[in-house]
Amino acid sequence: MITLAFIGAAQTVTGSKHLLRTSRAAVLLDCGLFQGRRRESFEKNRNIPIDGRALDAVVLSHAHIDHSGALPLLCRNFDGPIYATPATRDLAAPMLLDAAMIQEADARHIARLIERGEPGVEAVDPLYGEADVAKVLGQIVGLPYHRRQGIAPGVALTFIDAGHVLGSAIVVLDVEDEGQTLRLAFTGDLGRHHLPILRDPEVPSGVECLISESTYGDRMHGPIELLGEDLAAIIRRTHERGGKIVIPSFALERAQEIVYELKRLRQEHRIPPLPVYVDSPLTVKLTDVFRMHPECYDDAARALLRGQDSPFQFDGLTYVSDVEASKAIDMEERPSIIIAASGMCEAGRVLHHLRSTISDSRNTVAIVGFQAQHTLGRRLVEGRPEVRIFGVMRPRRAEVVVLDGFSAHADQKGLVDFAEAVRERGPLRQVLLVHGEPPAQQALSRALAGRGFPTVHAPAAGERVRL
Ligand SMILES: [Zn+2]
Repeated sequence: MITLAFIGAAQTVTGSKHLLRTSRAAVLLDCGLFQGRRRESFEKNRNIPIDGRALDAVVLSHAHIDHSGALPLLCRNFDGPIYATPATRDLAAPMLLDAAMIQEADARHIARLIERGEPGVEAVDPLYGEADVAKVLGQIVGLPYHRRQGIAPGVALTFIDAGHVLGSAIVVLDVEDEGQTLRLAFTGDLGRHHLPILRDPEVPSGVECLISESTYGDRMHGPIELLGEDLAAIIRRTHERGGKIVIPSFALERAQEIVYELKRLRQEHRIPPLPVYVDSPLTVKLTDVFRMHPECYDDAARALLRGQDSPFQFDGLTYVSDVEASKAIDMEERPSIIIAASGMCEAGRVLHHLRSTISDSRNTVAIVGFQAQHTLGRRLVEGRPEVRIFGVMRPRRAEVVVLDGFSAHADQKGLVDFAEAVRERGPLRQVLLVHGEPPAQQALSRALAGRGFPTVHAPAAGERVRL
């Protein structure tokens, strides 16, 4: 019997973990961290209901922390191989080390609050540290796209391009158990056509069971072609007001795409030559990994690279790692563009920049990624007149714009088109939705039912489904 248990990213967008079991094999797909309300996610992350000793292998779809960030916890009792593409393997090192650092900083911050006698604060320990991350990195096995590899008794793995972030993969598994054979595909996070830098998602063939993400199952993105102009208009408008543009950005992919796009807009003289700061030590490290993996680029990005003109460098662009240099940016009066992590404004340097810009109506905050519930980013998107930053309520006078064209996730049409393309190339009979909040999943289920997909189901957390 072949089953799949949905342990995380089930009717929610974080904590991606799906456990494939047969009579003789156990393979975990992704091992992500839950994010959101601190206490609740901490408990969920700490108590992973998986016995690492019983696993044959782990397969990692891509390097985002909500897919990879719980590996250091799992690997306390799992010593086997973790399969990932070479780019994902190289991105995992800075991503996981950064996650460990954030947890240590968080724990220190909370300890300080307790010391100051703040009521209602409970001490936390970091979930893991550097040594745990080092163990994980020693277990990752790089497997290039399109190379089939046996990973457990009766289970073979092939990665194809998901077009979501550098190195991201759709996981295709051929499973055999007690005379039953099955090909399943797990989208990981599904990208979009025509995203900057990356190639478009590939479509697997012969798939019977599709496990699809559903983040934007209820939404349509603006066309990517208009993205550059939208961004340019915001920059020109803010520049005329004499303001600053703060772009909270995920360090992986989004930051590199924005830099790539700004470079193009500058070359075409569509934006004024403002100073641009990429203020995130993690982004700096990840951008180095991008430079190492042109095999993941689309033709346009590769052509740029061939011309000796780095896609990630231009005049007036400064990568900031140093803390003092980061603080100095906020002291400047002149208009500028500041790209800083974290993407959902929950931690990191972007908080300092928001603190210094949010109450001035000349400034703009440009939101370029998905904002989960209970995050500062979500509150900005909702247009709240006041927001809490570093524990203090502040009036929000800066303009807030949402540029969802930058999303690295397929929208409803993209997800439905992908499922249809899979059905055209194989005997697809089962679609399971993961990685989405319930309204998005319901809308996507309806859209798929409208296209004649009979069995679409969004499993609840902990549910086990027979394939
Ligand atoms: Zn992702």
